[in-house]
Amino acid sequence: MDEVQVLLKELTQAGGVPGHEDDVRRLLQGHLRQLGEVGHDKLGSVICTKQGESAEPRVMLAAHMDEIGFMVSHITKDGFVRFATLGGWWDHVLLGQRVVIKTKKGDVPGTIGAKPPHLLSDEERSKMVANKDMYMDIGATSREEVEEAGVRVADPIVPVGEFTVLAGGRSYLSKAFDDRAGCAVMLTAMRRMSSIAHPNTLLAVATVQEEVGLRGARTSVQTVNPDVAIILEATGVGDVPGVGEEGQALRLGRGPVITFYRQDMIPNLPLRDLLRDTAEKHDIPVQIRADRIRGGTDGAAIHLHGSGVPTVVLSLPVRYVHSHSSIMHRADFDAAVDLLTGVLQQLDRKTVSGLTEW
Ligand SMILES: [Zn+2]
Repeated sequence: MDEVQVLLKELTQAGGVPGHEDDVRRLLQGHLRQLGEVGHDKLGSVICTKQGESAEPRVMLAAHMDEIGFMVSHITKDGFVRFATLGGWWDHVLLGQRVVIKTKKGDVPGTIGAKPPHLLSDEERSKMVANKDMYMDIGATSREEVEEAGVRVADPIVPVGEFTVLAGGRSYLSKAFDDRAGCAVMLTAMRRMSSIAHPNTLLAVATVQEEVGLRGARTSVQTVNPDVAIILEATGVGDVPGVGEEGQALRLGRGPVITFYRQDMIPNLPLRDLLRDTAEKHDIPVQIRADRIRGGTDGAAIHLHGSGVPTVVLSLPVRYVHSHSSIMHRADFDAAVDLLTGVLQQLDRKTVSGLTEW
């Protein structure tokens, strides 16, 4: 495995459901300390400051470190663990998946189960099983056994999805590419910027609790008070069988996605164009998204800070996002890092104040 694969493996495999980001935060703090001065906001977002040739403009990079997951809501007397979801799950992708319950006594592995098909009526069998009808099975037969293992109500539960390099070596399978892939783009770009002059101060922020409502974005942007922001995300694509032409428009391996429109955020237009023009100039492939996207982005909170922050979202296309088994492509990763480092070198005082000349 090369450096990027090692980083992606390490970041995706760390646990970090919303509000319980400790494991992944420790990792990111360790990496970011090599690159600048590291602090945090009071919700737990990590902020790395690297001053270049000028204290201003302040350029915020943001990638969320939390992943969707679960929390123990109840332990049944027969020894099954009921759960609440943290973040947006599609119930179809849950059954039969492995999980780890993070307890004070250590990790407790299990699987997600539901009433078995041979005991369902014909009507029940044709319906999707709702997550409220599922449970986690840690192989126990009584509540006492579950408690003995260390499981308590409100313990966080992390999906299990091993990092695997797929056939051909260019695409990867794992849990949590949303948004550890964005964290990895941010880290890799910051590493590259340590040997490149930049006319600004970079503030790389790994935010918490994005998946439950952009909460770390809201608090970290107040701490950072940026002049401009680039959000690094993972975005779901539909380049798979059974999807029509429109749904297939964004594809794996065709470059990172610049979001031109979302229901919750319209990017700063000159900044958006700066990304597209930089990509064109350096022959970096990019894709453009301007459709109705469900879900949120830290950008939605960040661009509304103060009197407004020029903001753009740059995402890696990911298949089966928000599942235990997402797929991303290395070409998209490399192109995102190239584009980001190209743009960061141009964000000087004049360019950034030009973004908001009306
Ligand atoms: Zn995300």
